[in-house]
Amino acid sequence: MDSDEFRHWSRKAADWGVDYRQTLRDRPVRARTRPGDIARQIAAAPPETGEAMEAIFADFERIIPDGMTHWQHPRFFAYFPANAAPVSVIADQIVTAIAAQCMLWQTSPAATELETRVVDWLRQALGLPEGFSGLIQDSASTATLAATLVMRERALAWKGNSEGLAAHRPVRVYASSEVHTSIDRAIWIAGIGQDNLVRIPTSGPLRGMDPDKLDAAIRADLAAGHIPAGVIACTGGTSIGACDPIGRIGEVVREHGLYLHVDAAWAGSAMICPEFRALWDGIEAADSIVFNPHKWLGAQFDCSIQFIRSPEDQVRTLAIQPEYLKTHGHDGIINYSEWSVPLGRRFRALKLWFLLRYHGLEGLRTMIRNHVAWSVALAERLAAEPDFTIVSQPVLSLFSFRHQGGADADAHNIALVNAINDDGRIYLTQTRVDGRIAIRFQAGQFDMTREDADTAFSVITEIARRL
Ligand code: PLP
Repeated sequence: MDSDEFRHWSRKAADWGVDYRQTLRDRPVRARTRPGDIARQIAAAPPETGEAMEAIFADFERIIPDGMTHWQHPRFFAYFPANAAPVSVIADQIVTAIAAQCMLWQTSPAATELETRVVDWLRQALGLPEGFSGLIQDSASTATLAATLVMRERALAWKGNSEGLAAHRPVRVYASSEVHTSIDRAIWIAGIGQDNLVRIPTSGPLRGMDPDKLDAAIRADLAAGHIPAGVIACTGGTSIGACDPIGRIGEVVREHGLYLHVDAAWAGSAMICPEFRALWDGIEAADSIVFNPHKWLGAQFDCSIQFIRSPEDQVRTLAIQPEYLKTHGHDGIINYSEWSVPLGRRFRALKLWFLLRYHGLEGLRTMIRNHVAWSVALAERLAAEPDFTIVSQPVLSLFSFRHQGGADADAHNIALVNAINDDGRIYLTQTRVDGRIAIRFQAGQFDMTREDADTAFSVITEIARRL
């Protein structure tokens, strides 16, 4: 492709993106595609000779957009958001054009140094004390895996990587059942084993881990000759936004000399608003914290921040320095690939730099406060309806509800979610609370307005009564 063609099609793609965003409100949020519909339209074998961009782009427009679920739709209320503010899209277009591999300082000094700065901007924005440094990971799952490996290595006196786990007594990690499944997978991949992920019972409206039961479980494990390694706590669990009492957990962790990782993948963004920080009171006790600006804050996926107390421990666990990766002649630099599982690294700091500068923290706070207020108002409206029950009260902008559904309420509420999503005006997903189906609602889309919350109320009540 020559420069003229590159310019032409880059502009065309950028224009397409703007038009796409402008027409989102008119599209059904969830794809209406049936399994196999898209695959049937794609050639079964790769082309032997090149094709014209006109044909490729036309096929893209014909086949792909209608087969997408529109995560940037203002009425996407399912899962958690994956906000890509336009300004972060622009930054990522530049990153894609530069296409650098940012694994070492010398493979892209600007990417490394900007990363250090914006991670520290976010540390300040979230009200975390000095002493936390950090990096940008691709996902919360990767950050949690890194933290789990560090806690394992600390507990095994840095011998797990060399000797393997078979040479040691069982390593134990503690979490409630409200944590995301990325914690289970980190435990599997770290070789600790699901049976050594000890579930601590929760209590209270926030379904937080009971610190006394945590302490008792650690003591029982010590008495049994196991090796307690660390605790993985959550602020804003995926199902209903559960929050562990971080401060009290921190005291238990300190007493036993364990490692504390906090998963705030979704809720972390809200901590730019000081009034929400009570949800993770005591967070300064953490050794590692993950939050995803690619969820609520508006940084195009993927962008996950891991704050860490001791980068030295993470480097000791993960760094390998063959000669071909050494950076001779530069002291005091950071090679972020030594802090993470993957070697290759995308230039993710640019979109954060653009995002934070364009919107400012005040702009982003206003967005988050609006989402919380609209979600709380919607929960109140539904609670006032005779045939709806609020199952879990709003935690920030997430709550869950149930429609009364006769003998089989679970089947009725699943049918309701399906009918709502087939309708297409809004998109919701379900969860299970105390063994029963509940429907989740989260407000978090960058372009959402109060009217979108009103639409959600109308769609939910209208379809529930029609079922
Ligand atoms: N932790 C929580 C609380 C989540 O809700 C999610 C995903 O929704 C994750 C972790 C995993 O995030 P990622 O997709 O960045 O790995």
